[in-house]
Amino acid sequence: MDRLSNANSKDNLTRRIIETKGIVQGVGFRPFVFQIAKRYGLHGWVLNTSGGVLIEVEGAEESLHAFLDDLTMQLPPLAKIDTISVIEAEAAGYQDFKIRQSQAQPGKYVSISPDVGTCADCQRELMDSTDHRYGYPFINCTNCGPRFSIITDIPYDRQFTSMQRFQMCDTCSQEYTDPDDRRFHAQPNACAQCGPQLTFMGGTPLQVINGEAIKLTAQALQEGKILAIKGLGGFHLACSATDETTVAELRRRKHRYGKAMAVMMKDLEQAARYCELSATEEKLLVSPRRPIVILNQRQGTKIASSVTFGLPTLGVMLPYTPLHFLLLDSYREPLVMTSGNISEEPLVSSNEEAIVKLGVIADCFLMHNRDIVNKIDDSVTRIIAGREAVIRRARGYAPEPLLLPEQLPEILGCGPEQKNTFCLTRDYHAFVSQHIGDLDNLPTLEYYERMIDFYKHIFRINPRIVAHDLHPAYLSTHYAQSIGNAQLLGVQHHHAHIVSCMLENGVTDQVIGIAFDGTGYGTDGNLWGGEFLLADYRSFTRLGHFKYVRMPGGEKAIKEPYRMAYGYLYSLFGKDTRTFQKYLDTIEDEELLIMAQQMDKHINAPLTSSCARLFDAVSALINIARIVRYEGEAAVRLESIIDEGVIDFYDFDLQGYILDPAPLLKGVYNDLANNIVPSTIAAKFHNGLIKAISNVCRRISNHTGVKKVCLSGGVFQNAFLLKGLVKRLTKEGFSVFWQQKVPANDGGISLGQVMIAHYNLSR
Ligand SMILES: [Zn+2]
Ligand SMILES: [Zn+2]
Ligand SMILES: [Zn+2]
Repeated sequence: MDRLSNANSKDNLTRRIIETKGIVQGVGFRPFVFQIAKRYGLHGWVLNTSGGVLIEVEGAEESLHAFLDDLTMQLPPLAKIDTISVIEAEAAGYQDFKIRQSQAQPGKYVSISPDVGTCADCQRELMDSTDHRYGYPFINCTNCGPRFSIITDIPYDRQFTSMQRFQMCDTCSQEYTDPDDRRFHAQPNACAQCGPQLTFMGGTPLQVINGEAIKLTAQALQEGKILAIKGLGGFHLACSATDETTVAELRRRKHRYGKAMAVMMKDLEQAARYCELSATEEKLLVSPRRPIVILNQRQGTKIASSVTFGLPTLGVMLPYTPLHFLLLDSYREPLVMTSGNISEEPLVSSNEEAIVKLGVIADCFLMHNRDIVNKIDDSVTRIIAGREAVIRRARGYAPEPLLLPEQLPEILGCGPEQKNTFCLTRDYHAFVSQHIGDLDNLPTLEYYERMIDFYKHIFRINPRIVAHDLHPAYLSTHYAQSIGNAQLLGVQHHHAHIVSCMLENGVTDQVIGIAFDGTGYGTDGNLWGGEFLLADYRSFTRLGHFKYVRMPGGEKAIKEPYRMAYGYLYSLFGKDTRTFQKYLDTIEDEELLIMAQQMDKHINAPLTSSCARLFDAVSALINIARIVRYEGEAAVRLESIIDEGVIDFYDFDLQGYILDPAPLLKGVYNDLANNIVPSTIAAKFHNGLIKAISNVCRRISNHTGVKKVCLSGGVFQNAFLLKGLVKRLTKEGFSVFWQQKVPANDGGISLGQVMIAHYNLSR
């Protein structure tokens, strides 16, 4: 026995009542507490409450000190303590240390762990032919496995998960109750005898086969079939990533043209064979969050061209469930693993829904009987300027809260229309939801409303303050207006972008906010998107922006950038558009006439200051994206062809704080006429943008004295632009902040909304 734990008489003992909050449930925290209590011979108990974890320990003073040191400094890998309170009390005379039954406390809440990729120990057991769980596709432990995706309520206990229906066998129960076992109180604990099972369905008529499901799946993939595979947060559609015919067929069946699809690689070694990998990227790929990481592809690999449609980047993830490990161990080649949904609908997550909805796409199904309670997409991230920037925040990240710089009341931020997330606050926590999607289709809207209800329930939040976008037609705005008994605040889109960036970077004073994106409703009713704001948490002044131009045909100009290019030329050069005759020749005369009339008469030709539209226009001018299949495609293509060796740039006119791209457009056109290659033009465009933005910043700073700059909005997912701008502004003496924890795109809007609402309504 430890010398500290010599049995003392009760007189020499004291007790500590310890309450911890943070990510302390579903991460092996109670077993950890049990172990260290035992280590120092302390008595008492530990239990999960709906507010966190409550501990009572008693023993000698020295032992209690040692216990508290270990408690805070040797946490299990996935646990995170946000707050801890320790109260001294007289000894109660406990005889042993116990893990007590969880307690639900009305109104209390606790953070819930995101789903966690299979840990190294479980990976080893999975592949060990002598292990009890050899080849079992649902192996997990206190350090890994499903969490958020299977939870129905708090506290996080088996009875409040979709594992509730599986009765543990003797072996599993033994582990679950043995404090020395690494599955002690692992809620989803299971084995082949008692846990979830795989089913393979294939052929016509559909045949159901329970055994050898993995082998049959790998075989079907070899044969060039398309499979629907049930994963952690929903279904994937999977096929060979190296077989062009199959990938093209998947796109045809899914009606998905344009957006790149993600690939699952067997391991780091395989990923490195297909892509360039930095140490940071490697670390991210194998992290417990296991996101899709956007990497640079090596040239001349076997990846089918239809996977990315010619982009030099590739979204790569590694296996993150035991099922994936087994599948890739059997199939061994890169797999396309794209979201199992139709068009823009949410992920399919139940077996029945999969057969109905994915039946027209998939030849075979690999399914299981552990229900997905909360569907959640794969997260997407990219290393930009040396740091991880989340592009789609979902599995592995949500619903982990972001810590706020001050305590907030219960507020709901409804988020935007596209790439929607919502956000709920309580105390120092901001619970930004997982990626919800585009609300303009009914199933996504229903998913949105259901998830808001669920978050409100599990985090015990009942918001009386509701923030929404200023756009009157957004469905998230309508949702906010439908909530009774709440104070509403309309928040300007780009102000929300900037405050989101400030918040996650802990910036509390006034900043120069640069918000560049596709579209956000402006206070003047125009479509903003190239904005220079002087902003804080409460309010903003719009100091500068890109010069307004008209979008002939409105929405249509977004899908057809060649219209946008004409919109720019006509708006900025008027009758002199003729100097761009060669470009005009690429458009039918009648169409030109209609567009000119729309712009003259202001019919369906709204004014915009959007920077994304400038990317569209330039891409159309140089003919790399006359028509796009998804918003932002033109910008992605323009970035992808940059010749990084070019240091030349195009000019903007700067009148006050208004950026006029007329000289730039002339420059692009002249270079085209002189047969300058698109890769040079793309570089000069980006370089010109970086220079122009920093000129505006300098001018604003000279007048205001503000030296902090926040960059947000979807345009800043452009790695070349962000990196170049951060470098240049830093060199000029600015402190530069950008989004990393929440997306720079509209997925970050809801976080900004809640803080602005707090400063205007509840502070
Ligand atoms: Zn594990
Ligand atoms: Zn079992
Ligand atoms: Zn936006």
